[in-house]
Amino acid sequence: MSRVVVVGAGLGGLAAAARLAALGHSVTVCEASHEVGGKLGLHERDGFRFDTGPSLLTMPQVFRDLFEATGGWPPDLSFVPLDPLARYRWADGTRLDASSDLDEHCARLDAALGDGAGDDWRAFTARAERIWDASRGPFLESALSGPGTLGRLALRQPGDLAAIGPGRSLRSLGRRYLRDPRLRTYLDRYATYTGSDPRRAPAALAAVPYVEQAYGGWYVPGGLRRLGEAVHERGLERGVEVRLGTRVTRIERAGGRIHGVRLEDGGTLPADLVVANADASTVYGLLVDSPSSVRRLARATPSLSGFVMLLAVRGRTPGLAHHNVLFPTDYDAEFDAVFGAPAKPVEDPTLYVSAPDDPAVRPDGCEGWFVLVNAPRHRAGGDGSGRGDGSQGDGSPGAVDWRAPGLADTYAEHLLDLLAARGLPVRDRVLWREVITPADLEERTGSVGGAIYGTSSNGATAAFLRPANRSPVRGLFLVGGSSHPGGGLPLVTLSAQIVAGLVGPAD
Ligand SMILES: Cc1cc2nc3c(=O)[nH]c(=O)nc-3n(C[C@H](O)[C@H](O)[C@H](O)COP(=O)(O)OP(=O)(O)OC[C@H]3O[C@@H](n4cnc5c(N)ncnc54)[C@H](O)[C@@H]3O)c2cc1C
Repeated sequence: MSRVVVVGAGLGGLAAAARLAALGHSVTVCEASHEVGGKLGLHERDGFRFDTGPSLLTMPQVFRDLFEATGGWPPDLSFVPLDPLARYRWADGTRLDASSDLDEHCARLDAALGDGAGDDWRAFTARAERIWDASRGPFLESALSGPGTLGRLALRQPGDLAAIGPGRSLRSLGRRYLRDPRLRTYLDRYATYTGSDPRRAPAALAAVPYVEQAYGGWYVPGGLRRLGEAVHERGLERGVEVRLGTRVTRIERAGGRIHGVRLEDGGTLPADLVVANADASTVYGLLVDSPSSVRRLARATPSLSGFVMLLAVRGRTPGLAHHNVLFPTDYDAEFDAVFGAPAKPVEDPTLYVSAPDDPAVRPDGCEGWFVLVNAPRHRAGGDGSGRGDGSQGDGSPGAVDWRAPGLADTYAEHLLDLLAARGLPVRDRVLWREVITPADLEERTGSVGGAIYGTSSNGATAAFLRPANRSPVRGLFLVGGSSHPGGGLPLVTLSAQIVAGLVGPAD
C-alpha cells in the first residue's frame, strides 16, 4: 500500500483519489479552497442552484466505468439525454435543433440549411468516426509517451494516421466535407470545447462532434455539480481523507524520490506518491523543479478562458431550449480577439445560454441562465508588456486584465444588449446577476489566466506537448484538464483512470 497525496479536488483529483483508494492505497486529498469540485463549481442563492462551470456532459460510459471500479452506480445520481442537444441560431436567423440521432440530425440539417447539408454531415461523420476509432485506445485511453504515441497510432491499422490527417486543421477538414458556411461554423465551434481556435486546431478534433453524435449529450438532474459531489462521496466511502483549505506549496523529494508535500501552514504530509490535479504549469513551475517540463509547456498555446454571467430570471422564455448557441456574423473575429496579440474581450461573441428546465435548480416561475462567451485569459496589467503589440514576444496570445475597473460590469451590460439584439431581451426580467471573469476563475481554481482547458490544441503537436500523466519526477503523476488527454469532464475522468492504471493496485 502506498501513501498517496492528491493535490487538488477538481473532478480529476477526486476521481483519481476514489480509484486509488479502491485499489487499496491510503489517499489524502489536499484542496486549497474551501470546497471540492474546482471548475465544476456551484453558486446557490435565493432558491437558484447554478452550475458555474460545465453544463453539458458527454461520454457517459467513462463515468459508469469510474463508479463500477469504485463500488457501483450511486443511487441518487442520474443522467438524462438531451433532445435537442442544443438549439443553434445563426446571424441570418437560421435555426437548428441538433440531435444525437444521426438520421434525425441529418433530416433537421436538410430542413434548416437546405438539401444536401445532411449528406455532407453524414460523410463528415463517417470520417470523424474513423478518427475516433483510430485515436481512442492508443491516445485518449493510454498514457502519453511522446513520439511513441504517434508510433502506436501509425502501426495499429494502416490508414489510421491518414484518417487523423496530421498537419490538417479542423477548419480545413470542414471545408473538405461541408459546403454550407453555416455548417462549417457549426463544426468550428467544437474546437472551442478544447479551448482552441479551429483554424489551428488539428483535424483530429472531429472526434469531438462525433462523440456527441454517437454517445449523446446529457444532463444531471440537480445540476452537473451533482456528479462532482457523487465522486467526492465515493472517495469518502472508500476511505479517502479530504482536507479543505489546505494549499500545497511544495512537493518534497530527496534522492530522486517523492517523500511528501509541504503545506501553506508550514506543516508537511508524508507521501510515497503524489498525484497533482493542480494546473500543470503550477506543478512544474512552483511545486517541483522541472525546467524541461516548464520549457515544453511554454511551447503550447494556453487554452481560451470564458466570461460567465449567472442570471436569475423572472418568468419563462418561449423558444428557449436547455442549451442555446447564438452565432455572430463574423466567427473568425472571435478567435482573433481571444488568441490575438493584443487580445481583447470579444466585441460580437457567440452567446451560449444554458437554462435547464429542472425544478431542482430554480424557483417556480423562474429560469436560471448560465451565459458563457469565449474570452482571452487574464493577466494583471493585460497586454501592457511594453512591446506595444501586446504579445509576449514569443508568438503566444495576449491577455486582458479582467480586474480593470468597470470592465466586467460594462462587458456584462454589453452582453445583455447582444442577447436582446439576437432575440433574447432578458434585461428587464433579471432579478440579479453574478459575473465570473477569467480573473475570478484563476483565483477560484488556480488555473493560470483562467484557462478553461490548460493548454489549447492549437498546432499539430499540441496534443503531444500536453504534460504526460507520469511526470519525469519519480513518484509524481499528473491528473486533470491541463495534462493528458485534456480538458472536459470525460477526459479528466479518463486521466484519473490512466493514472490509477499507472500506479496499479496496492501490494
Ligand atoms: C465556464 C466553464 C465551462 C465548462 N463547460 C464544460 C462543459 O460543458 N462540459 C465539460 O465536459 N467540461 C466543461 N468545462 C471544463 C471542465 O470543467 C474541466 O475540464 C474540469 O472540471 C477540470 O477538472 P480538473 O480535474 O482539471 O480540476 P480543476 O477543476 O481545474 O480543479 C483543480 C483543483 O486544484 C486545486 N488546487 C490548485 N492548486 C492547488 C494547490 N497548490 N494545493 C491544493 N489544491 C490546489 C484548485 O483549487 C482546484 O479545486 C468547463 C469549464 C468552465 C470553467
